[in-house]
Amino acid sequence: MTIVPGSLPSVIRHWIGGELVDAADGRTFDVSGPVSNTPYAQAARGSAADVDRAVRAAGAAFPEWAGLSNRARANTLYRIADAVEASHDRLATYETYDTGLPITQARGQARRAAENFRYFADVIVALGEEAFRQGEEQFSYVRRTPVGVAGLITPWNTPFMLESWKLAPALASGCTLVLKPAEWTPLSASLWPEIFAEAGVPAGTVNIVHGIGEEAGQALVDHPDVPLISFTGSTDTGRHIIRSSAQHLKTTSMELGGKSPAVVFADADLEAALDSVVFGVFSLNGERCTAGSRVLVERPLYAEFVQRLAERAANVRVGLPSDPATEVGALVHAEHYERVLNYVEIGKKEARLVAGGSRPDHLNEGNYLQPTVFADVPRDARIFQEEIFGPVVAVAPFDDEAEAIELANATRYGLAAYIWTSDLKRGHRIAHAVESGMVWINSHNVRDLRTPFGGVKDSGVGREGGAHSIDFYTDSKIVHVALGDVHTPRFGAAS
Ligand code: NAD
Repeated sequence: MTIVPGSLPSVIRHWIGGELVDAADGRTFDVSGPVSNTPYAQAARGSAADVDRAVRAAGAAFPEWAGLSNRARANTLYRIADAVEASHDRLATYETYDTGLPITQARGQARRAAENFRYFADVIVALGEEAFRQGEEQFSYVRRTPVGVAGLITPWNTPFMLESWKLAPALASGCTLVLKPAEWTPLSASLWPEIFAEAGVPAGTVNIVHGIGEEAGQALVDHPDVPLISFTGSTDTGRHIIRSSAQHLKTTSMELGGKSPAVVFADADLEAALDSVVFGVFSLNGERCTAGSRVLVERPLYAEFVQRLAERAANVRVGLPSDPATEVGALVHAEHYERVLNYVEIGKKEARLVAGGSRPDHLNEGNYLQPTVFADVPRDARIFQEEIFGPVVAVAPFDDEAEAIELANATRYGLAAYIWTSDLKRGHRIAHAVESGMVWINSHNVRDLRTPFGGVKDSGVGREGGAHSIDFYTDSKIVHVALGDVHTPRFGAAS
């Protein structure tokens, strides 16, 4: 499917209580794509009044949705997955238009979104309750109940997939919810109403309020009837949301930024390591929270690795996001593009530029940047420390295992790490010493959806994925019951 003038919505509305509605005060904001950087649509600009209406709709829908059996909710989730798949082409095309993601990668993300619903449907069907027995006297079981109306706040990178990553477990758990998509990329979220309606999700179960973070997002965080906030985004915003959530002691999950190391030892499978480093940092336009954006290479391999990485980077195909041959598309927004270009200028002063560093010659308009490699990057350099969130990688040498660990941990972030070595004992030693929520040894960023996803340090608090997500969206209540005669301690009895 290609975008032809008129095939995109020119208005993107909230979805509240099963209806598409304008903002209560009628305000809107401009939405543009990263190739033309000119507005193609107006989106409803949510305020506290819109959020309140959405929370009330979700509250009204809660008893019915929470009251369904796990099997019944799972069946609905399977239908949602089918509906996502039926919208696959349009979804990927919208995502590419709005975010600048290469179309082939947007298609992959659309498939992942469907998979998330199927996966969490399977999880709740298989879910049992924990039980404990104390001899013949007492039996105890844990009863899990959905927390109520969940607030979901999502970022602009792979927006539809990341929305599904929260929507699926929240719905599987029995929560109703209000989603606040990122303001730079609301287009794919405009397909959710059709998808949920087609799958037969009751009105009000899912509500979507578009808008600016400090307005609609903040109103959701501040709403007293939303006991839980699931947030994915930048560390600064996450910190702010935790502070605001303290007012109502909300449960929060924070999936935040990263500056993840890829540690390459001289005994590594060089081709595999190169493939992984190149794909890990340049796919999704480098706008990937788990990007291995700091590459640490053992000294004997260093010069060769830098040269080979620079050659690979120079061969990555940068082009129109809608072209199936494109490997790196356009960065999401003019403001973000400026920010990334600024980091490139900073990097030119801090380190040695060995590939990229400017707009490709053949692309005069749009937010394009050549895949960029900096070598000999000192550990205190800003491009070594700060998340750039674009196709830019910092490379530095290390001399031994101790230095590799020290450098890997020398940032405030701790999301992911990648280790390349043919010595598996060493691989495990480094994996255990690295401060991060996730580590891949001789493997690229493949996910097993059952495993915990999340970071440490400034990369986040909490874990999502598999049973961890269900834990997050439910409260547990322990019920103790006597099995036989209970010998209750009695006041006044001789001890
Ligand atoms: P951001 O923090 O600017 O915005 C994220 C969302 O928060 C948006 O919907 C925004 O409108 C909203 N928001 C902003 N201010 C708010 C406030 N005061 N109250 C409530 N909501 C508010 O992040 P971004 O620039 O959209 O996303 C990029 C960041 O997300 C990067 O740092 C990236 O690493 C991170 N990220 C992390 C993961 C992960 O799983 N750890 C995954 C993807 C992205």
